[in-house]
This record gives sequence, structure tokens and C-alpha cells, in this order.
Amino acid sequence: MNNERSEPSAGAAFPYQQGPRDWLCQTAGAAAPSGGSEPHEVGSVGALLGCIADDFTGATDLANNLVRAGMRVVQAIGVPVAPLDAPADAVVVALKSRTLPPDQAIAQSLAALHWLQAQGVQQVYFKYCSTFDSTAQGNIGPVAEALMDALGTDFTIATPAFPDNQRTVFKGHLFVGDALLNESGLQHHPLTPMLDANLVRVLQAQCRRKVGLIDHRVVAQGEPAIRVRIEQLRAEGVGLAIVDAVSNDDLMHLGPALKGMALVTAGSGVAIGLPANFGITPMSRSGALPSASGYQAVVAGSCSLTTCRQVAAFIQTGQPALRLDPLQIAAGQAAGGDMAAADALAWAEPLLGQGPVLIYSSADPDAVQSVQGQLGADAAGALVERTLAAIARGLVARGVRQLVVAGGETSGACIHALNITQLKIGAQIDPGVPWCHAATNAAPGQGLHLALKSGNFGADDFFSKAFKCLA
Ligand code: ADP
Repeated sequence: MNNERSEPSAGAAFPYQQGPRDWLCQTAGAAAPSGGSEPHEVGSVGALLGCIADDFTGATDLANNLVRAGMRVVQAIGVPVAPLDAPADAVVVALKSRTLPPDQAIAQSLAALHWLQAQGVQQVYFKYCSTFDSTAQGNIGPVAEALMDALGTDFTIATPAFPDNQRTVFKGHLFVGDALLNESGLQHHPLTPMLDANLVRVLQAQCRRKVGLIDHRVVAQGEPAIRVRIEQLRAEGVGLAIVDAVSNDDLMHLGPALKGMALVTAGSGVAIGLPANFGITPMSRSGALPSASGYQAVVAGSCSLTTCRQVAAFIQTGQPALRLDPLQIAAGQAAGGDMAAADALAWAEPLLGQGPVLIYSSADPDAVQSVQGQLGADAAGALVERTLAAIARGLVARGVRQLVVAGGETSGACIHALNITQLKIGAQIDPGVPWCHAATNAAPGQGLHLALKSGNFGADDFFSKAFKCLA
């Protein structure tokens, strides 16, 4: 472990990539287009839209977009054992299935589907990453096809487009900002390196069914043209179609064409066009969470360029930051003493009263590659996730009640360690990342405010800005 306290230069070696900086902290729903509709009622507790998210940050990202589009959303961590007990228009089941072996990802997703069907949902939404994170084996294709089989449907769409977060799809190719996916930094992802921006090709390699494209010219013409194209693709034996979308207008064109489709597969962006299909329009919602108290901390396990920039920006402010070195953690374990989490907590404890602290394993691609070369990619990932999860739990035991977690897999590990089963979605910090609140025995009494940040999301000053949003 390497103690780096507030060294302005620390982290300067992280690669930088231009990103949006001027997003505002907004209350969920309040910034959505003014629809001015009356609050809608659903007849019963049963939800209309049932969502299966392949990781935890993705689930909150989707829930955030649905809330902003007017839906009441419940987010469950894992497949619930009991029926839905609160009124909701949409329910999001958050899995941690993105990097599981495909058969396990399918089994978990089908279990989620069966629970959602039991809640009477009318449409199913399989949510994956806006950078289409997947391995050569899947899991986007295998899970999508298993859900199609279970739902008895012969066609679905697939698009990770999320223009608010600079993810656009054009001619089937995914862009992250101005860069093609495979030149955006995602080619260095520790678990799911993305080496091809052509999503038709990427998805086809994961699917038995034929994959096609609904391209931008069709999308721009709106719902009737999209429906015609879908029928044409169906007639050609295409089972899944990548959909181009470069703007929210495109997603709003797509939305009505998806009405009645049993299964939608997408990133979170498509969600902005679906609530209207159920007669739901954006309205002013408080997105109010219980008031925040307690100490503040950030735990970062993402190695994305964006998170690396955020780590560097936090360090630049002079606030305390501690870097974890996976090789030192592994060496400590091999020597019979697993002190990494305890050491990190001993470092953090006296600092907590002074403001937010950051504990991170984020590292540049060369460092990650070197660690993976010595430990193996999966073992390194699991080691770091376990350590950060133990640290998150220890921080909460020491009075942290406002916790930012950076990284999808990392968030999943932390949520499990904190015994969290359900999240309430609150104000958006940056596109795709809301504050959430959870009741948990790990934080008795007032519960815990959590921001689960997908590695690639958020402005450079996210780690400082997040706490200002709660103040
Ligand atoms: P993202 O949202 O950016 O994909 P994740 O948390 O999902 O972030 O994935 C990052 C993975 O990289 C996790 O499994 C994490 O444990 C692992 N990891 C974090 N730091 C390092 C490191 N320094 N070396 C190798 N692997 C790391």
C-alpha cells in the first residue's frame, strides 16, 4: 500500500480525456422537460416496466432516467424473495452479472425475469453498459437471447446510446465522446476490454440469431419508418437490431416504436422514451431523500480514464487520498496477513472529521496490465473488489454516511458488503449518477447515502461536487 496524502502531483500520470464539465446538480425529475402532467396512478402495486440491469451502477443510472421521465421506480439489489410491496411504475432488479460466466449470467437474469413476470410487468428492459461492456462470450448476447426465448419473442433491439453522456451510435458504431469505442480508453478495461466499435459485429459474435441494424436515416424519420424497418428485418430473419441514435431526439423517435415490444435491450438512454408509452409524462418530483449527515468518503475501484481524472482532480484539491497497490495486498495475503483494509481504515479514521477522504485502486492501463500479468485479471479484480468492499464497510462502521463508490463491479461488491437490498433514487449529480439512500443494518438509524458511479461517468470534479449536492 502506498500512502499518498494530498500530493498535488500524485495522479498527474493518469491519462486525460476531454469530458463534459458543466453539468449541474439537479433534483431528479425537476430538470426533465416540463410535461406538467398530473400524478398518474397505477391500479395496483404491480409495475408496468420490469428492468434487469447487469450491474449496480447501471441499475441506478437506468432508475435515474426513468424517475426523470416521470416514473416511480423501486430498485432492488438482486432478485427479491418477496413480492413488490410499494407502488411503482418501474422496478429495476440490479444484478452483478456483467462478467459472470454466461450460463450464470443467464440463470440470474431468468430468475429476475420470472420475479418481474410475477409482478405483472408489461414490458421487460435488459439494461447493459453504455459502452457495451462485454467479453467475447457475452454476456449481452447470451442474456438477451435467453430472455427472448423465455418471453417467446422473435425480435428485439439493442443500443447503448446515451447522448446525454456522450455515448452515440452511428452506422452501428459506438462513439464515446469524439472517439470510437475501441480508441476511447475502453480498449484497456481490466475485465471487458472493448476492441471493436462495430456493435453489429460485436453482438453478432455473441448471438445465435442474426443481428441487423436500424440506421440513423430510418431513426430520423420517426416511429412509422422504424416500425417498417423492424418488419423488414424480421422478414430477413434478423432477431436483434442495433439502433443508431446520436441525440435525445433519436431516442424519443425510437420510444413509440418500442410500444408493445416484449423485450427491449439497451443502455439507460432508451429509457427516456418509454414512459410516454404508458401514458406517463415528466413531472416535477422532489426526488427527496432523507437529509444527509455523517462523514464523507469515496471508494474508487474503476480504472477508467474518467475515474482516473476524477481521482487526480480530488487529489489536486488537497484532500486526503490513499492509493491501494494490488501487488502489495497480494503479497500481504501470501505472507499470511491480510491487513490492507485494516491499514486503510487506520489511515482514514483520524481524517474523517475533516472532510471527504478518498481510497482508490484506480491505475493507468500499464499499471493494470502489469498487475494482471502477475496475478491474473480475474484474481486481481476479485482481490481489489474484496478489499475495497471491506474498506467501505469499515468506513460506514466508523460513521461514514455519505459514500461515493466508483466502478460498477466495485459498487456491486460494496453493496453486498453493506447488506443493502433496496435503494431509493434521489437527485442527479451528473448524468447517469444520482444520489441514492438505503436503509441497512450496517448504518443503523438514519441509513446511508450512496452514489454508485459507473467508471466512465461524471465530470472531473465529481468526487467533490457529489458532496456539495447533498449539503
Ligand atoms: P468500471 O465501472 O470502470 O468498469 P469496475 O469496478 O466495474 O469499474 O471494474 C474495475 C475492475 O478493475 C474491478 O474488478 C477492480 O477490482 C479492478 N481493479 C481495480 N483496480 C485495479 C488495479 N490497480 N489493477 C488491476 N485491477 C484493478
